[in-house]
Amino acid sequence: MKITSAKFVKGVKGSSDMPADKMFQVAFIGRSNVGKSSVINALTNQNNLAKTSSSPGRTTEINLFLINNSFYLVDLPGYGFAKTSLKNREKLRKLIRWYLIESGLNQKKVFLIIDAELGPTKADMEVLANFEETNKNIVVIANKIDKLKSSDYERAITGIKKIFTGYRIIPFSAKKKIGIKELTSEIF
Ligand code: GDP
Repeated sequence: MKITSAKFVKGVKGSSDMPADKMFQVAFIGRSNVGKSSVINALTNQNNLAKTSSSPGRTTEINLFLINNSFYLVDLPGYGFAKTSLKNREKLRKLIRWYLIESGLNQKKVFLIIDAELGPTKADMEVLANFEETNKNIVVIANKIDKLKSSDYERAITGIKKIFTGYRIIPFSAKKKIGIKELTSEIF
């Protein structure tokens, strides 16, 4: 299967905004600036579907995209952006928690994007801890592998695998378009 069409549907802030149809959802979550928009753009083969923004932390809504007229790709707001106010961060945390936990929506997959070079941050581990109370189908995307020197690659990926034991890890580069096939096959 391939992604042949992708269009923005709406920004969602709560239950009443969610479409009532039964199409499945796949969600993308990650720290602000981890490259989430770039991953979504690479996956859908679009240049500007999810805005790659130079000011991280700007998006405060959950963005829904309709893919192939058959399922929703859900772009959650980036977390862990230090420069936003505490109040804003708390609002985002609640919105993300609502969507993933309290909404009762059963996502087909939840893709947690981390920075392959940096490894998981404290904020990433907090999000993962939140998931542990759920039965989510989580796949970890280790983005920006193009930034790793080939001599560091194995060590970095092995380290990530150790931390995320039991989860599928997809080494990825939105920039170099590496890992798209593997990611696509997790969706269909
Ligand atoms: P978001 O805030 O998570 O949506 O992140 P963006 O998609 O806006 O990307 C944040 C920054 O990381 C931008 O400068 C991107 O060009 C860069 N970036 C994203 N993906 C990659 C990647 O695979 N490799 C490299 N080297 N840079 C990337």
